Amino acid sequence: MYYANGIDFESQRRAMVEKDLKGKGIAEPGVIAAMGQVPREEFVPTSYQSQAYADGPLPIGMGQTISQPYIVALMTQELRLNNYCEVLEIGTGSGYQTAILSKLAKRVYTIERSSVLSEAAQAVLGRLGFTNIEFYIGDGSKGWPFSDNATKGEPQEKKFDRIILTAAVPKIPQTLIDQLKESGILVAPVGDAGAQELITGVKKDGKLIERFVCDVRFVKLIGEDAFKE
Ligand code: SAH
Repeated sequence: MYYANGIDFESQRRAMVEKDLKGKGIAEPGVIAAMGQVPREEFVPTSYQSQAYADGPLPIGMGQTISQPYIVALMTQELRLNNYCEVLEIGTGSGYQTAILSKLAKRVYTIERSSVLSEAAQAVLGRLGFTNIEFYIGDGSKGWPFSDNATKGEPQEKKFDRIILTAAVPKIPQTLIDQLKESGILVAPVGDAGAQELITGVKKDGKLIERFVCDVRFVKLIGEDAFKE
């Protein structure tokens, strides 16, 4: 057994899965397995590693936070992923949620506004051997930038099976609804800057049919079709 900095992260992770996930109603086997495998301590600053498996958010720099494990698990469970899914994630942050998605989906497309955070996430995800992830630095409220694909010989238009927003929006940007496939699922914290409702939406006949999941508190999505700075 490997004890980094004298801390047994593996047994802490196991305890977190039992108490904070299963104990609070997370039941989806894929989600439980992924959360039991991804080393959250690798996604937080060294000074916070000893708190990596407490069920709370932690600072990751640039005034942003890594979400609490239970919320990551809940949002992932709401997405009902399978290994055919192509997922768009808005708000890469530390890359921890990205890693969980990556384990359960075919491919993850993730957008982060801060180049500092995106580059740090790319480094840790690369080091941990995640390969099915595409990164983009920019404003995720405008969706995935397909215009960039022409130069790479990839299709101009693409729709996602799943979309997850890991920062709060006043309302779900229409561009994101447009980039979601029919019958696709979108999960997002929607509300004002101080408090939001976690919403799960399923796209039916071009419209999002929304369901309330729980009250949440996320940092703001800052962008053209989101909160202003
Ligand atoms: N899922 C992340 C949580 C990140 S917090 C994790 O597990 O660590 C939300 C992130 O959204 C922050 O990193 C913030 O910089 C980013 N963000 C804010 N506005 C954005 C925008 N318009 N487009 C993309 N990312 C944005």
